[in-house]
Amino acid sequence: MKLARYAHNGTTHIGLIDRSEKTIAPLPGVSDMFDVIARADEIKKAASKETQGHPLAEVKLLAPIPVPHRNIFCVGKNYSDHAREFSNSGYEAGAVKGAEIDSYPAVFTKPANTVVGPDDVVHLHPQATSSVDYEAELALIIGKEGRDIKPEKAYEHIFGYTIVNDVTARDRQRNHKQWFLGKALDTFCPMGPWIATSDELDPENLDVKCWVNGELRQNANTRDLIFNVPSLLASISAGLTLKPGDVIATGTPAGVGLGFNPPKFLRPGDSVSISISHLGTLTNTFQ
Ligand code: MG
Repeated sequence: MKLARYAHNGTTHIGLIDRSEKTIAPLPGVSDMFDVIARADEIKKAASKETQGHPLAEVKLLAPIPVPHRNIFCVGKNYSDHAREFSNSGYEAGAVKGAEIDSYPAVFTKPANTVVGPDDVVHLHPQATSSVDYEAELALIIGKEGRDIKPEKAYEHIFGYTIVNDVTARDRQRNHKQWFLGKALDTFCPMGPWIATSDELDPENLDVKCWVNGELRQNANTRDLIFNVPSLLASISAGLTLKPGDVIATGTPAGVGLGFNPPKFLRPGDSVSISISHLGTLTNTFQ
C-alpha cells in the first residue's frame, strides 16, 4: 500500500494511492497514520476493494506523520563518499570526527517541531544560520514495538518507508560541537510525499536522487549504506524500545552543499527535490 495524508476541499484525510500513482482514495474512519499502523491488517484487506479516488494532482499532500510522538532518529555518515566529503569540509566537529567509520553508527535526533510536508516552505532562519544544507534520505517507520531487535527480525518491525530531507545548519552543527542544534530548527524535516508499506519495496536497493533548482546533486543507491536497515534497527533498539510510528532516517549520500568548494548552501527561492524509488518525489522551496 501507498498511504498519504492529504487535504481536499478543506478537510484532511488519510488515503490510499493507486498503483499508477495517479489517484488517492480516502480511508473512512481513519484519523492519522498512527491509527493506520495500529490497524494495518484490517486496512490492507479493505484496500483490495476498488474505490473511487481523487486525482492526486487535485489534492495537497501533507507530511504523513506531522507530529511524531518523539524525536526522529537519524543516522550520520552512513555512506562512505559522504563521510569523506563531510570530513574534508571543515564543518565537522564533535565526537564523530574523521572520515573513517568504526563499528557503530553515529545516531542523533531531530525534534518533532522540524516536520513539514511536501511543497511546504523551509525557513532559512538567517538570524540563526548562514549555511543551510540539504540531505536526501530514506526513512523507515516502525510498525511493531520492539527492544533488542535482532537484525534477522528487523523487517518484522517495519511498517513502511518515506523520504525525509534532513535539513542542516552546518555552522550550528560545527559551532555547537554536537549535531542536535544544527538539525533542530523549525521546518528542518520535510517528510513525504507518502509512505510505502514494507511489502512494496526492497529497502536495500533504492535509488536516492536529489536536485537543487533542477541540478542533480545526489545520486546513489541504498545498497551503499554502511549500516543497512537491519543493523541500524539492532543498534538503535539495544536497550531502547522502538514504538509504532517512530521514524528513523538512514543517512545521506555524497553531494550535499558542503561537499563543494566553495560550499553551495541554500539561498532564498531555492527548490530542493528528492526522489527515491517507489516513494515519489519530495519538493520544498527554501525562504
Ligand atoms: Mg542526515
